[in-house]
Amino acid sequence: DFVTAHDERDAPVAPVPPPPRRRYADRFAGQLVLVTGAASGIGRATALAFAGAGARVVAVDRDAEGAARTAELSRLVGAPAAWAEVVDVADEPAMEELGAKVAAEYGTVDVLVNNAGIGMSGPFLETTGEDWRKVLDVNLWGVIHGCRIFGGQMAERGQGGHIVNTASAAAFQPSRALSAYCTSKAAVLMLSECLRAELAGRDIGVSAVCPGLVKTGITATALFTGVSDGEQERLRGRASRLYGLRGYPPEKVADAVLRAVAENRAVVPVTPEARGARLLSRLAPGA
Ligand code: NAD
Repeated sequence: DFVTAHDERDAPVAPVPPPPRRRYADRFAGQLVLVTGAASGIGRATALAFAGAGARVVAVDRDAEGAARTAELSRLVGAPAAWAEVVDVADEPAMEELGAKVAAEYGTVDVLVNNAGIGMSGPFLETTGEDWRKVLDVNLWGVIHGCRIFGGQMAERGQGGHIVNTASAAAFQPSRALSAYCTSKAAVLMLSECLRAELAGRDIGVSAVCPGLVKTGITATALFTGVSDGEQERLRGRASRLYGLRGYPPEKVADAVLRAVAENRAVVPVTPEARGARLLSRLAPGA
C-alpha cells in the first residue's frame, strides 16, 4: 500500500531502529550535526544515521511532534545528546534566532544538512507567482539561510566543517509539470558547487546529494497537489507500482549523506540521475 509521511509517523515505530552501518561507527563521535526537515523521510533517516555514528544531533523541522520523535530516536540509537528545534527554514529571522541559540547552547555545528524541502507540481502555465514563491522560499532560500548562518559560524570558528544540501535528480533532468521543483533543485546544486569552491580554503566541505525517487511523504503527497481527484488516484496507483519496483529507502540517502561528508564528495547521486528523474517525470500530472 502507498504510505504517506503521515502514515509513517502514525504507524507504530520500532523502539530502536536498526543500527547504522559499521563503516561510520564513531566517525562522527562528539560532532554536532544539524539536520533540517528532520521530522520525517530522508531528514529523519539522516539524523538517525549520524546519531548512530556518535554525533550530537539537532533535529530541525516545522513539525514539532516529528522533530521531537526524531530527537528521541536519535538518543535511542546512540546520540550522546539530541534536541528538537521547531523552525520554518524559509523564515530568515527565525533561522537567525536558531543560529544564535544553537551557538550559545549546543556549540558550533560541525555538519549542517540542509534537507527540508517541499514539492510542487502542475503545468507551468497554470502555476502562480505564489506557487513559485512557496517552493523557492523553502527549497532555495531555506538552504541559503542555513549555509550563510551556520557556514558563517563554521568559518568564524576556523576549525572547518561540512555542509550537505539535499538537491535531487530533478536538478539535472527537466521534467514536465515540475518546473518549480526542478528549478529550485538545480539552483541548490549550483549554490553547493559555488560554495564548495569558495569555502574550500576555510576547510569547509560542501556537498550536494541528489536522490532519485525515494519512498517518503514528499513523493506521496506533494507531487499530487493541484490535480483532480481522479488524476490523483491514477498517479498514486502508478507511484505505488513504481515504489514497489524501484523506490529507494530513505536510509540509502542517509548513507550517501554520511559518505559525502566522510569522503568530502562534491555531488553524490543516490540513484542514477537520469533514471531517477525519469521516474519523477512519470509521476507528474498529465504524465
Ligand atoms: P518528507 O516530506 O518526508 O520530509 C520533508 C521534511 O521537511 C518534513 O518533515 C517537513 O515537515 C519538513 N519541511 C518542509 N518544509 C519545511 C520548512 N519550511 N521548514 C522546516 N521544515 C520543513 O520528504 P523527503 O523526501 O524526506 O524530502 C527531504 C528532501 O529530499 C527534500 O529537500 C526533497 O526535495 C529531497 N528529495 C526527495 C526525493 C524523494 O523522492 N523523496 C528525491 C530527491 C530529493
